[in-house]
Amino acid sequence: MHEKILARRDRVRRVLTKQNLAALLVTNPVNVRYLTGFTGGDSYLLFSPDGETLLSDPRFTIQIEEECPGLDVAIRPGGVSLVQAVAKILGKNSSGTLGLEAESVTLAEQERISQALPRRQLVPTRNIVEEFRQVKDRSEVDLIRKAIDVAHRAFQDLRENIKPEQSEVDLRNDLEYLMRLFGGEEKSFPSIIGAGPRAALPHGTPSDMKVEGQSHVLFDWGAIVDGYMSDLTRVLIFAPNNKRLRTIYDTVLKAQEAAIAAIKPGKTGEEIDAVARAIIRDEGFGRYFNHGLGHGLGLEIHENPRFAIGNKTILKPGMVLTVEPGIYLKNWGGVRVEDDILVTRTGCEVLSQRVPKAFEDMVV
Ligand code: ZN
Ligand code: ZN
Repeated sequence: MHEKILARRDRVRRVLTKQNLAALLVTNPVNVRYLTGFTGGDSYLLFSPDGETLLSDPRFTIQIEEECPGLDVAIRPGGVSLVQAVAKILGKNSSGTLGLEAESVTLAEQERISQALPRRQLVPTRNIVEEFRQVKDRSEVDLIRKAIDVAHRAFQDLRENIKPEQSEVDLRNDLEYLMRLFGGEEKSFPSIIGAGPRAALPHGTPSDMKVEGQSHVLFDWGAIVDGYMSDLTRVLIFAPNNKRLRTIYDTVLKAQEAAIAAIKPGKTGEEIDAVARAIIRDEGFGRYFNHGLGHGLGLEIHENPRFAIGNKTILKPGMVLTVEPGIYLKNWGGVRVEDDILVTRTGCEVLSQRVPKAFEDMVV
């Protein structure tokens, strides 16, 4: 792991040379983690001409020793701000460029940095680290597999014990407890659980609505293992003879499977999105599929690339994305099916393949 992390920092350094940046301040905690292995917070990684330094505070001294062997560390004493610590390393009167992560630094931080380093030219940077994070190595994919497995086991347990008097909130509480029980360190996002008409809210929060009497319940959930996330959606079916539910479910699944079959290196995000969208449109539900087909995931739940209209990112082996078409009808409900896939050299592997999704398998 240590070697891998060193290699990641080398790649960043090569980009800095190419972009003529003398220094770069990595402030996005996920990027700091990716480049150092440090899992704590409130810390910056500074690339300077002299090397890389992790700036942190005394709460994390021991943790950094354990997680980041060999990395230069500057622990700031009380009363010294992170920005002052950065200025101390670079030299208050030093000049030259300093790259900042534009998506992560606030305007207030930028002001403080320019006050502490008045002669530095601050340069907004975008996607330097995120670009590398798009393509996962084997150890990262393995952690995503584990996060899927945890989510799968929790869901299986939940559905075996589901009771009509349970509400969306009850199911959420059970599901998130089970994910921790089975080895997840956290949920990867607040679970979305929608019974009957409430399944029409693609990002609805669980309510007191009971399962009893509903035709179906939608679950969108995921777990985190060593920082890496899973993201799945399944629909449990209580009314298998409901014709509308069957039609909509079949359409969503057909769109999802066709999109998955189309995934391979060289295709763009928008091409894959278009495959699913065309099927849903041809079945007459086009306007009810009102979000992108999928998103990258890894250390964050939503990363680039995306399967979405207008996304020109070219797929490469090692990218991990969700495929999650949905159809949502107000006052009726919604259906979405979501799997996590790995782009391979010849196509893709459905990492969540073992989580059942055929209509018959979802009937409770
Ligand atoms: Zn999801
Ligand atoms: Zn998702």
